[in-house]
Amino acid sequence: MTIETVGIVGAGQMGNGIAHVFALAGYNVLLNDIAQDSLDKAMATIEKNLDRQVSRAKITAEDKAATLARITTTLTLTDLGQTDLVIEAATEREDVKNQIFKTLVPHLKPTTILASNTSSISITRLASKTDRPERFMGVHFMNPVPVMKLVELIRGIATDDETYQTMLAIVAKLGKTAASAEDFPAFIVNRILIPMINEAVYTLYEGVGNVQSIDMAMKLGANHPMGPLELADFIGLDTCLAIMHVLHDGLADTKYRPCPLLVKYVEAGWLGRKTGRGFYDYRGETPVPTR
Ligand code: NAD
Repeated sequence: MTIETVGIVGAGQMGNGIAHVFALAGYNVLLNDIAQDSLDKAMATIEKNLDRQVSRAKITAEDKAATLARITTTLTLTDLGQTDLVIEAATEREDVKNQIFKTLVPHLKPTTILASNTSSISITRLASKTDRPERFMGVHFMNPVPVMKLVELIRGIATDDETYQTMLAIVAKLGKTAASAEDFPAFIVNRILIPMINEAVYTLYEGVGNVQSIDMAMKLGANHPMGPLELADFIGLDTCLAIMHVLHDGLADTKYRPCPLLVKYVEAGWLGRKTGRGFYDYRGETPVPTR
């Protein structure tokens, strides 16, 4: 299938990155959000990130201008009706995603592929609420999208091979690498990564190490570029907790129980970098461990 125009729903952290990489690869992008402020911020972020790529000689100033010219923003979801592929990257709530698909589906061409960037919601369940489960799949980008090389491709139970092959070719055109995952809770990356982070929080909770020693141990001892607690702050502690709940509920195994200390940080509103405090306090010049 030929895909030329791509609609993206949700212009947050992930939506702006997805718009960036598609437009840079030559696709015409229509970016939608419910808030004008999110659209404005997304365009400013895309421009800043393209500037960084120009300054590192990864792209030219002409590439930057052409990329920006290929992105149009809209507050009207149904404007995405004429696109060939829609990627939903809105807030991680099933009711929000279902409502988006319900509003959009009657306006779509029969051939349009629908995809969700969800980190944890069942692709099969989301697809079943649309008119095209065979042309629906999970396309899970990593944060920050312009930098991270991997895209997880998740087929729902009904996804057909043409849809999968089309997405596989698109991922290659974006210069990224696909890993295929079956549609089970949290797919591959988060199924492995988030329980490791949760275990790091248990290690802290039980006093085996402090924030600094745990992060140091995994950076220098396991060659991880970031320590697990530093990484948790980057992802957002609320997101880490939500994924642990999905694993715990979806797999019904006590090994996925969220650490009570992770719950306490989230209850405190200490969600990591985005709120200025998590396992580190980011309000000063340099991050200071909070335990
Ligand atoms: P975010 O909060 O930064 O952005 C969500 C955006 O969706 C907001 O701008 C919001 O205004 C918009 N939105 C909400 N309801 C909408 C609607 N009805 N129509 C259009 N726009 C709407 O969230 P994010 O981190 O970009 O996450 C988006 C999706 O990507 C989620 O499904 C999340 O699980 C997934 N994801 C996140 C990460 C990550 O590291 N943050 C990584 C991979 C996948």
